[in-house]
Amino acid sequence: MFWDLKMTNPGAMGGNFPHEFHLPNPSAEDTLLICKSCGNQSKKDEVESFTNCGKCDSKDLKIIETVEVGHTFQLGERYSKVFEANSPNGNPYFMCCFGLGITRIIAVAIDVLSVSYKAMKLPNILSPFKVVTILPKENSVNSVFVQSFINDISNLPGLCNNVLIDDRIEKSTGRRINEENQLGIPNILVVSSHKHPFEIQPIEYFKTFSNSDKLEKIGNLTHSELFVELSKI
Ligand SMILES: [Zn+2]
Repeated sequence: MFWDLKMTNPGAMGGNFPHEFHLPNPSAEDTLLICKSCGNQSKKDEVESFTNCGKCDSKDLKIIETVEVGHTFQLGERYSKVFEANSPNGNPYFMCCFGLGITRIIAVAIDVLSVSYKAMKLPNILSPFKVVTILPKENSVNSVFVQSFINDISNLPGLCNNVLIDDRIEKSTGRRINEENQLGIPNILVVSSHKHPFEIQPIEYFKTFSNSDKLEKIGNLTHSELFVELSKI
């Protein structure tokens, strides 16, 4: 749940229509009061009485501990006029401010989406890599197959520079799967050992989901089946 607060106090820089964006977080940097009767949202430090809604006077309030992750407001022409920053038609530029707490967003997103230390969950857009490919031991790998497979998936539009190759073959596959889950990589591929030069080499595909530390096995897929699945990312 995301809270968008229309603030009444514009703050030090001035400006109109200030909004603060909050995510629930137990570190409780801020406390929001949400009125269950009229839906009015306010920050605890903005209201004098914490027991009644400032708008409809209801006592039925929900208290939510949050962290502010964004702040937007309109500066208008306040600074552009002073600095004579004019658009080509001669009017001062109309300025808006969009403040995002980059480090906070990462920390709070992990808190909101993760359920245990076994899996660091991030929004897909923030994950360090979209896909990791875990390679088997050197003596059990068909290197031509693996090379062409990795080239193919790395060339998918959604995966450019987003495929991590885990070739730490001194570690067991299970351990590496767990470590990739802890890194927050949402799609984990495991290239199985190559037993016979003419057999089709399947690849195990695991996916992770928000608010869960479990890996879901999608299946043992062939090169082309996996290509279709990963094209959707
Ligand atoms: Zn109210």
